[in-house]
Amino acid sequence: MAIVYLCLGSNSGDRLKFIEQAVSFLNLAENIKIVRTTALYETEPWGVKNQNWFLNMIVEIKTNLKAQDLLLKCLNIEKTLGRNREKEQKWGERPIDIDIIFYDKEIINTEILTVPHPRMHERAFVLVPLLELIPDFIHPVLHKSVSELYDDLQEVENVMLYGTRGMLDE
Ligand code: ADP
Ligand code: MG
Repeated sequence: MAIVYLCLGSNSGDRLKFIEQAVSFLNLAENIKIVRTTALYETEPWGVKNQNWFLNMIVEIKTNLKAQDLLLKCLNIEKTLGRNREKEQKWGERPIDIDIIFYDKEIINTEILTVPHPRMHERAFVLVPLLELIPDFIHPVLHKSVSELYDDLQEVENVMLYGTRGMLDE
């Protein structure tokens, strides 16, 4: 069984419902067992700024699916939840995004899949939740721990526990 970290994100429509449904579809999938989840975070958009804030969380799963098959499963769940990539802007609004962050310590570089996720180390919305679960896990390509990657972040977008974002307006 491989231990895998998936990052879920949503920034359009009923964001909470999309995240909940994604977790529940993952849980229903044969060959996938959800082990732990992080708290839910509300995060400032990364890349394309003038869009809704995201909800993000990370899910730790055990699976005997190969990485490629897991990706297909994730893309399938995205599609089921109404995601249509053709209509989207790169890094723009989406009902649900499911990214493979780590797949054990494997390094994968194919046309459709890069693991560890190629931009995870630049994204506070991935690193902050990951700190809850595996602060000492060493990135197999960059050879740094998750907490070192977090310390190295140049730009840190806002990552708030879900429910606390309103406090920023006071
Ligand atoms: P992003 O997640 O960067 O915003 P998309 O969700 O639109 O972009 O993903 C585009 C493609 O990225 C997917 O169709 C998939 O084939 C590819 N991809 C490459 N590596 C990964 C990964 N580690 N996790 C998820 N998708 C990946
Ligand atoms: Mg994606």
